[in-house]
Amino acid sequence: MFSNWLTRLNRGVGTPTGKIAQLIWGSLSRSLSLSSQRRVPGESELSSFVTRTNTCGELRSSHLGQEVTLCGWIQYRRQNIFLVLRDFQGLVQVVIPQDESAASVKKILCEAPVESVVQVSGTVISRPPGQENPKMPTGEIEIKVKTAELLNSCKKLPFEIKDFVKKTEALRLQYRYLDLRSFQLQRNLRLRSQMVMKMRDFLCNLHGFVDIETPTLFKRTPGGAKEFVIPSREPGKFYSLPQSPQQFKQLLMVGGLDRYFQVARCYRDEGSRPDRQPEFTQIDIEMSFVDQTGIRSLIEGLLQYSWPKDKGPVRVPFPCMTFAEALASYGTDKPDTRFGMKIVDVSDVFRNTEVRFLQDALSEPQGTVKAIRVPGGAKYLKRKDIESIRKLAADHFDQEVLPVVLKASQNWNTPVAKFVMEEQGWELVGRLEAQEEDVVLLTAGEHRRACSLLGKLRLECADLLEARGAVLRDPALFSFLWVVDFPLFLPKEEHPGELESAHHPFTAPHPSDVHLLHTEPEKVRSQHYDLVLNGNEIGGGSIRIHDAQLQRYILETLLKEDVTLLSHLLQALDSGAPPHGGIALGLDRLMCIVTGAPSIRDVIAFPKSFRGHDLMSNAPDVIPPEDLKPYHIQVSWPTDSEEEKNSLSHPRRPES
Ligand code: ASP
Repeated sequence: MFSNWLTRLNRGVGTPTGKIAQLIWGSLSRSLSLSSQRRVPGESELSSFVTRTNTCGELRSSHLGQEVTLCGWIQYRRQNIFLVLRDFQGLVQVVIPQDESAASVKKILCEAPVESVVQVSGTVISRPPGQENPKMPTGEIEIKVKTAELLNSCKKLPFEIKDFVKKTEALRLQYRYLDLRSFQLQRNLRLRSQMVMKMRDFLCNLHGFVDIETPTLFKRTPGGAKEFVIPSREPGKFYSLPQSPQQFKQLLMVGGLDRYFQVARCYRDEGSRPDRQPEFTQIDIEMSFVDQTGIRSLIEGLLQYSWPKDKGPVRVPFPCMTFAEALASYGTDKPDTRFGMKIVDVSDVFRNTEVRFLQDALSEPQGTVKAIRVPGGAKYLKRKDIESIRKLAADHFDQEVLPVVLKASQNWNTPVAKFVMEEQGWELVGRLEAQEEDVVLLTAGEHRRACSLLGKLRLECADLLEARGAVLRDPALFSFLWVVDFPLFLPKEEHPGELESAHHPFTAPHPSDVHLLHTEPEKVRSQHYDLVLNGNEIGGGSIRIHDAQLQRYILETLLKEDVTLLSHLLQALDSGAPPHGGIALGLDRLMCIVTGAPSIRDVIAFPKSFRGHDLMSNAPDVIPPEDLKPYHIQVSWPTDSEEEKNSLSHPRRPES
């Protein structure tokens, strides 16, 4: 197929006949010769193969006197004298000719509505002295137009294509093709493409990885996230969309591919969350004969190599913290290490307290008292902030929080807090290294619960402090962190007596804990590692189980999964599977942090809304019953009361 296409193209270029062929030949040869004149090593040729000679945004004084052809959108027009033309590279000023002989050119350029697409040809001239615009990269020059062509007229638009024009996200998603014209989205998508290219280069060219596509029509995988199902024409049989290429990448190792990589699309039918999309992209990696250190160094090198130059250097190795440490000090497995406010265990300070809720907690066998210090809290936080913090603790964690304000005059210091200060004040102050004007938040309960609550409050307080003007997190800082030594299993949320995998069921146990698998599986640590950036999990992976017997035991005995669903994998592990491990980086989240975008939707060309809808095309959509017949499917429409119940448990949010 490709060779036919090539032959036709070559023949066409060799013997151009007719008007169209001449046009093609003309522009192709011009762009080829221009490209050889202008090409700077390492810079891409942006005007090859097309009718323009240059991009709007690239023109500078060095182009003075050149005859150019530009294509772009009309950004705005001033007094029918100037027109600003825009393309992906930037803006350029075009002078509309005023003389009689160019009346037709003037008519085209003055009558075309804003956002129409035009092609202009003319000369690059310098702007008259005093009329240069230093804010515009092309501000020293303008185009003296000779010919103009309206390529397509623009009808009325739902919003102006200007970054400063405010529009709701729902409207932006509905007219995504227009929103894509914005500077921000252009910049984000181009940066994403450049980083992926660098990653490919690092993995494939420098380290021998093989880029392999894996299927998206697959079957259900036990454990893990909920999957989307795809009906098939065989009655009652469904494909599933893979939540990740996990099984395939392991099977590629069994197949001897040794080093696999893919920019992989993954699908998870999980409820909407601000940093999730039902379909998302991973940089998916697997290697044979590797250990945790190998994977960590690979990822550090990969990020260092692909990191945009203007974002500062990436320092390696990244710091590493155990899951237990992360939970105890930050109350989460993805700590934001750009700032302190660490959790401190102050149980021993309160051993003999008279304060009731602390006393009650400490009388329990697992009871603890924990605290965080909010620096400058007395200065920055308002009474209503403290109330909202206490409400959050009560509503979402069913826990009490006691704020202790280290400022004598602060009138919202409660009698209980005053009492705490009288009793244990100095010790508490010393332990937390607290100072005048700080607020200490105290809570009590079982270790994990108390830490999780304070972890949440730590972030909440950081947001509040910053909203009130405190400087806590440097916006230019990228704080990477490895979190390791996760537990292999966690108690299931709905049935705490049963276990589920903390990562996925293919993760290998920590070598020093293997003996506990048969006696106390809940104590086994795993060879799972997560990569955290500024408090967001941007990657995760593990060293895998390559022993079929161990894999079967974990699936069948500990996780109570149906192993027949995975018989192909078990058989593969028994067929000479090499030791292997891997990782996946969440590309959307990574790009969101790198670009500083407010949401992952701002780094995805066509994202779904908050509720998983495509607001542009209206997907998902109904399908007529006759089209469902080949799939042997019938919709059982919910009754009104079911619908109401559903909307109560999933309150409608604005579509975004
Ligand atoms: N497949 C895993 C995930 O999507 C990553 C890995 O273990 O490599 O989380």
